[in-house]
Amino acid sequence: MPIQVAIDGPVASGKSTVARRLADRLGFVFLDTGALYRAVAYLALERGVAPTDAHGVESLLAAHAPEVVTDVADPLTYRIRIDGKLLGQQLFALPVSQAVSPIAAMPGVRRRLVQAQRGFAAGRDVVMAGRDIGTVVLPDAGFKFYLTASIDARTERRLRELIALGVSIDRDELRAEILARDERDTTRAVSPLAKAPDAVEIDTSSMTVDEVVDRIVRQVRMSSAR
Ligand code: C5P
Repeated sequence: MPIQVAIDGPVASGKSTVARRLADRLGFVFLDTGALYRAVAYLALERGVAPTDAHGVESLLAAHAPEVVTDVADPLTYRIRIDGKLLGQQLFALPVSQAVSPIAAMPGVRRRLVQAQRGFAAGRDVVMAGRDIGTVVLPDAGFKFYLTASIDARTERRLRELIALGVSIDRDELRAEILARDERDTTRAVSPLAKAPDAVEIDTSSMTVDEVVDRIVRQVRMSSAR
């Protein structure tokens, strides 16, 4: 049976960085599912479809499905491709971050993207990061973790990540964007951000990425060896 590790949590709780490094340590494939929702938001903005127009966004998605393209030589590296165009740092621009939550609340969008995520995970050992991996996408995952961190720690982390990507943004504006997105993600009707009842919660505020990864690796190795 393939081993599935689900990592969920709010914006900038460390999910993506932890999940990637974890996949590297375990030799599993990795997918940060937020990239797929961001790709749909990017597409809507590019085509002039309002992020509140469910019919418009769902039709767009039906006609231009995002694909996960894995680098064969390096299974931890993937890009999202839409209509032959590879998307990278455009996905992290502020307008995309602001448009993504209402889009991720659309049932038709979630249906398609959840299906794509399950397809990606099928038959292989995987680490998947997102908001609903342990609750909806991979409810039978053998390992589920829910990462949290204080708003200050999360703002600083995301700021550093964006600077590294060459995206410039004001700290207060970023903090407000993170809080607004958390609020929308936890209160939406379909698959809201929530800790799965069987997930282990880790507060990463004062932990390094390696400390979080070590802790998860220990648990996966211990249980898989049984
Ligand atoms: O993780 P990231 O910040 O890139 O996710 C962007 C947005 O995509 C989230 O704010 C959320 O609205 C949506 N998302 C989701 N379900 C997932 C992953 C992301 O709804 N599994």
